[in-house]
Amino acid sequence: MTTSPLALHGGAPVRTRPFPSWPIFDATDEARVLAALRSGKWGRLAGDQVAEFERRFAAMHGCAHAIAVVNGTVSLRIALMAAGLQAGDEVIVPTYTFLSTATAVVEANAVPVFVDVDLDTFNIDPTQVEAAITPRTRAIIPVHFAGQPADMDAILAIASRHGLFVLEDAAHAHGATWRDRPCGSIGHVGSFSFQSSKNLTSGEGGIITTNDAALAESCRSIHNCGRVPGGVWYEHHVISGNYRLGELQGALLNSQLDRLEAQTATRDANGDYLAARLSSLPGLHPQARPSWCTRHSRHLFMLRLDAAAFGAPRSAVLEALQAEGVPAVGGYGYPLPDQPLFRNKAFGPYLPDRDRLDYTRVACPNSRLICAEQAIWLDQSTMLGSRADIDDIAAAFEKVHAHRDALSPHASAGR
Ligand SMILES: *Cc1c(COP(=O)(O)O)cnc(C)c1O
Repeated sequence: MTTSPLALHGGAPVRTRPFPSWPIFDATDEARVLAALRSGKWGRLAGDQVAEFERRFAAMHGCAHAIAVVNGTVSLRIALMAAGLQAGDEVIVPTYTFLSTATAVVEANAVPVFVDVDLDTFNIDPTQVEAAITPRTRAIIPVHFAGQPADMDAILAIASRHGLFVLEDAAHAHGATWRDRPCGSIGHVGSFSFQSSKNLTSGEGGIITTNDAALAESCRSIHNCGRVPGGVWYEHHVISGNYRLGELQGALLNSQLDRLEAQTATRDANGDYLAARLSSLPGLHPQARPSWCTRHSRHLFMLRLDAAAFGAPRSAVLEALQAEGVPAVGGYGYPLPDQPLFRNKAFGPYLPDRDRLDYTRVACPNSRLICAEQAIWLDQSTMLGSRADIDDIAAAFEKVHAHRDALSPHASAGR
C-alpha cells in the first residue's frame, strides 16, 4: 500500500491521465452524419435514417415497434397518454430517480405517487408498492436505475393483480437485460433517452419501445401531431404535438448504435470487477446485483458509503477521490418528493385539484439517506476504459481509506 499522502494534502495523485471521454466518435460517424446532411432530407418524414434506427433499436431490444422522439422525457409522457391515462389517475414512481420520471406524469395531468427504493439495489422496493395502490392507480414506472433491471418479477405480478400499466423508464438501461430479456421489452412499453450523458447519445433524443401494435400506433400518432396511418396531412385526431426526431440525429444514432453492444459488455465487466474490489473495503456497498440482472448497462457505477464504517464522511471522501484523479460525485441532492417543485406543488396548469396532495409526507428514508449521506456515482464513461483504469479507481478508494484519519473533522488542526 502506498504511503504517499493524499493528493488533497499535497501527495502524488493515484491518477493523472483522464478517463475515457464521452461521447466517442470517429470518421464513421462523420461520414454518416455528412451523408444525411448532404441528402437534404433533414426531417424524418423525408428521409430514412430515423426509420432505420427505429427498426434496429427495436430489434436489439426485443421489440416489434419503436418510435423515436426528441427526448426521454416526452417519450414517458407520450407512453402514458397512449396508455389512456385520465386526469387525476395515479402513477407509482420511485423516489430516487431523475426528475422526468415523475414530471412526465404531472405533464400527463396525472398524480405521481412516490415509493422508496431498496437500499441495496437502488431500485423501487416492490414490497412497498402494493401499499401505495389505491382505486385511482393506473400505472407504475419502474426505473432500471443505473442500468440495473428493477425487480420485474414482483412488479409484473403486482401489475397483473391490480390491472396496472407498466412503463419501464429505461433511460439508463440501453442494452441491459433482465432474465436475458432486454429492458424496454418487459412491461407494456419502454422509454429510453439519448441525452448527452446517456449510454447511447445523439446529444438529445429518446425512443419508445413496445410489442403492442395498438400502443405503438397510438404513440406514433401522438408524436406526429395526431396524424393516423392513411390519414391526410392536415387531419389531426388526438391531442398531440411534434416530437419527431430529426434525420441528422437519426444518422448519428445509427453509427453510434454499432458500438453499443461492445461498449455495454465493457461497462458490465468493468463494473463487476470494480464492485468486487470495492466490496472488500469497510463501509463501501456497491449496488447489489440480483441474479435476474443478466446484463447491467452501468449507466452509473453506484455505491453507498457508510461513513461510520469507512471512517470518513462522504463529502471528504469525494473531495479526496477527485484530488486523486477519480471523478466521483454524490448524485441527486434530494429524493424527488423533497424537490421544491413537489414541496410547493408548482404544477402550473396541471392537476388543478392538487389541494388533496401532500408531498411533504412521503416516507422515503432510504432515498433520503442515499441522497444526503451515502451515494457515490461514477459515470458510464469511466467504465469504458481498461482494467488498469479500474485498478486506479480501486487504488484511489483504498488510498483514501488508508488515510481516512487525515479526513476526519478533527484531523485538519494537525495539518
Ligand atoms: C435522462 C433521464 C430521463 C429523461 O431523459 P431526457 O432525454 O433527458 O429527457 C428520464 N428518466 C431517467 C431515469 C433519466 O436518467
